[in-house]
Amino acid sequence: MPFSRVIGQETPVDVLRRALRSGKMAHAYLFEGIAGCGKGTTALAFVEAAFCGRDDGCGACPACRKMATLQHPDLHRLEPDGAFIKIDQIRDLQRELVLRPVEASVKACIIRDADRLNPSAANALLKTLEEPPGNALLILLTTNLDGVLQTVRSRCQLLRFAPLPEQVIENHLITIGQDPAAARLAASLAGGSLGTALEEGDEGAAGRVDLLELLRTISLNYVAPLFTAAEDMAADREQAMEKLNVLATLLRDLLLIQGGSNDVVNRDLLPRLEETAASQTQEKTLERIGHVMEARRALSRNANPRLTLDLLLMRLAAH
Ligand SMILES: [Zn+2]
Repeated sequence: MPFSRVIGQETPVDVLRRALRSGKMAHAYLFEGIAGCGKGTTALAFVEAAFCGRDDGCGACPACRKMATLQHPDLHRLEPDGAFIKIDQIRDLQRELVLRPVEASVKACIIRDADRLNPSAANALLKTLEEPPGNALLILLTTNLDGVLQTVRSRCQLLRFAPLPEQVIENHLITIGQDPAAARLAASLAGGSLGTALEEGDEGAAGRVDLLELLRTISLNYVAPLFTAAEDMAADREQAMEKLNVLATLLRDLLLIQGGSNDVVNRDLLPRLEETAASQTQEKTLERIGHVMEARRALSRNANPRLTLDLLLMRLAAH
């Protein structure tokens, strides 16, 4: 896939294309950014261009055609086997990297979730990063830079992938045929992740109604349902983050209505939003937004999702 398939992300793409043009590629890159913002797509485009021998894949040569189906013999991909990337996976990769490339001028390996290398695997990989075989191109991807060993980080060229602007996501969804209202809603709930926006469907709508109901009824007088709700919301980090993004848009809508506007994002829920907005003060909504933002920061710093949600719901109930 050529670089034109990457949505947004002009800055890291420019850096990579300049490296391809000058022939001065690093042996190892570390792509950092939230899930679904284009790190994987960019990595594949970069490898394709390197195999093709240009600053972008031509899409027509044998190398590009093999990359289109991910069948190129010099492309290797690694991801956690269970919770972690294990040392055996790194050893297999090392055995592969010392061999000459089969068809291309380099052997490329894309390592997903580089923050989930277990310690022995990270140390083994470090040896490869310290003395990379001449023809190796390693691209590590992570959503959690703090989880990547400092020694590993320091041997890679770091490229940051920013969350995508809502407008960019909205435009892309319209380009691929979504109706404009649905595209606007999905983009506003996606938290900068095109991947999340593309997954947003009917389930997203049902989730919003439940969360709005929670905002309307939550109370410290009924603590047990509160913890059940936290447990449901915090199945994993990504889901918890998605729920927080939805809560943030609902609260923002409530604040707008309380301020006299009805230009809300969750337009389909307007009557319910108005009812909830009328039952609470603007001050309370503002405080709740602060709590949701704090929970988002905690999750992005790797806090435990369940504990973060427990604490958040207690704070929301107290206001
Ligand atoms: Zn090509």
